[in-house]
Amino acid sequence: MLPILEQLLFLQESDLSIRKLVAEKDAIPAARAALERRLAALGGAHEKALQTAKETEVKRSMLEKDVRSRREQIQKYEAQRSQTRKNEEFQAIGAAIETTRADISRIEDQQLELMEALESMQPEIESTRNELNAAKGIITKEIADLDQKSVNLAERIVSETAERDRRTTGIDDGVLDTYRRLLHTRDIAVVPLQSEYCGGCDIKVVPDVAVQTRASKELVQCNKCSRFLYPVR
Ligand SMILES: [Zn+2]
Repeated sequence: MLPILEQLLFLQESDLSIRKLVAEKDAIPAARAALERRLAALGGAHEKALQTAKETEVKRSMLEKDVRSRREQIQKYEAQRSQTRKNEEFQAIGAAIETTRADISRIEDQQLELMEALESMQPEIESTRNELNAAKGIITKEIADLDQKSVNLAERIVSETAERDRRTTGIDDGVLDTYRRLLHTRDIAVVPLQSEYCGGCDIKVVPDVAVQTRASKELVQCNKCSRFLYPVR
């Protein structure tokens, strides 16, 4: 094979490897963000379960306070009733006591419902906590691994770029420019010519191009896509 073609292929190997490393590194922030979102979602689910229980407990303790004050009210009514001598007032206070007792009974029923609700929330609190704790360790490690991977990739990109630059030594500037442009616009710059078909654009090249490529005396470009061609049997 023409030495310049070998050199270009060698260079292309470096460039494609670097391109892969860069793509891998570029994908890390999104993967990291997804892990963080997952952790936040698990934390949020647990927080929500706790918050619902807390709100229910607040309601329940308000009802408890309500019952206490109504019991005190009954005591006051009873003291009033023992003081009165008027039958009408005695009856009225008795009725108020009955109403208050009924209220207490109704509020206590509500309290009971809230306590049952609180009880039923415990499994949810427990399972969201367990899920969060189990995931926290794993996800934190995965995030740390991604950060480490990003550092490693950055180092490899630097060293492979240095190697790539070394591989350009001795290549004519014009050829190098064409190669770079092809790599950038056509994804790959040096392709095989197999049975007269360009390995880049898959068309059958014109006879001159096929003959020149096989002759291996100069750099030949595909007449359709301009990629450099190297002959293969
Ligand atoms: Zn082509």
